[in-house]
Amino acid sequence: MTSTITPQPGIMDIALYQGGQSSLPGRDDVVKLSSNENPFGTSDKALEAYQRASRQLHRYPNTDHLSLRTAIAEVHGLDPQRIICGVGSDEIIHFLCQCYAGPGDEVLHTEHGFAMYRISALAAGATPVEARERERVTDVDALLAACTERTRLVFIANPNNPTGTMVGGNELARLADGLPGSALLVLDGAYAEFVDGYDGGAALIDGRENVFMTRTFSKLYGLGGLRIGWGYGPQPIVDMLNRIRGPFNLSQVQMDTAEAAVRDREFAARCTAENKRMRAWLAEALAEIGVPSDTSCANFILARFADTAEAQACDAWLKEAGILVRQVAGYKLPNCLRITVGDEASCRRVAHAVRNFKDNRE
Ligand SMILES: *Cc1c(COP(=O)(O)O)cnc(C)c1O
Repeated sequence: MTSTITPQPGIMDIALYQGGQSSLPGRDDVVKLSSNENPFGTSDKALEAYQRASRQLHRYPNTDHLSLRTAIAEVHGLDPQRIICGVGSDEIIHFLCQCYAGPGDEVLHTEHGFAMYRISALAAGATPVEARERERVTDVDALLAACTERTRLVFIANPNNPTGTMVGGNELARLADGLPGSALLVLDGAYAEFVDGYDGGAALIDGRENVFMTRTFSKLYGLGGLRIGWGYGPQPIVDMLNRIRGPFNLSQVQMDTAEAAVRDREFAARCTAENKRMRAWLAEALAEIGVPSDTSCANFILARFADTAEAQACDAWLKEAGILVRQVAGYKLPNCLRITVGDEASCRRVAHAVRNFKDNRE
């Protein structure tokens, strides 16, 4: 009998996610600046918690994540009842699409927005819709104009990846308040910790029914390999997401490590301070050699080249020098390279290599 096994609508439209390259064959001196990882690794306290938790691998994890939610709530000044934890913020994005968008529904995101919004929307059978940005910055008017009565979710990363730009609280409020009643605004705060005094949208959520925030342990906390994220929002939304969350979605190792990480404020403060210092240094060093970038609010810089050919040639040059950065043509930025802000030695090495590349072309 011929098989008629077919996937659900939308699945075949999903292009496989391209992660940042992590090694170069035959080289052991590679600097990886392609995935916005923390150059200082993970807090020692988090690593100790990881070791401790590893002695209990035969035990099932607790299902309510209460201890981790309490720690997050204390550090960020939030209500633990309205926090949900997931396998990276990717899983929270997935839950949102599964719960609120299906065939015939639209999921809105920005022109250079994070790839997972489109993937999760398609996986749920919904239709991703893109709103243009204004010179690589989220455009609230364009988002509002793109809304229809079928819009269910509006995703914006603030600061955005891969642009590094962000919009202010007044603009976010204007967006939230201008959306149709059926749409939930999701503020992806993967890089919120890198912005002094920014709460990721928490204040905007309190007092509104249509704003939700996602956060992650993958960037500032240096736990991308362990996969832990969380969301915060109105109680009815959090309750809905919990219905489809697997009871054992997080291991005890993940929870205990994340809890120690979020409580180690000293490590976090050191990393954000160093990121800020080296980000300014790198942006200036690149600008001096004719490679401009928008002022970044995150832990990477979006370096702009004259054209696609120059960006690709520089990427190849950097690889020769043992440096991995990220091509972002898939984000409709073919003339740009996204460079993670590394430690001082890595920043000097990448600036030096780009300078050599530029000199070599003259
Ligand atoms: C890195 C990143 C995330 C984090 O994803 P995790 O699944 O938590 O590792 C989410 N959103 C954006 C925009 C990112 O760049």
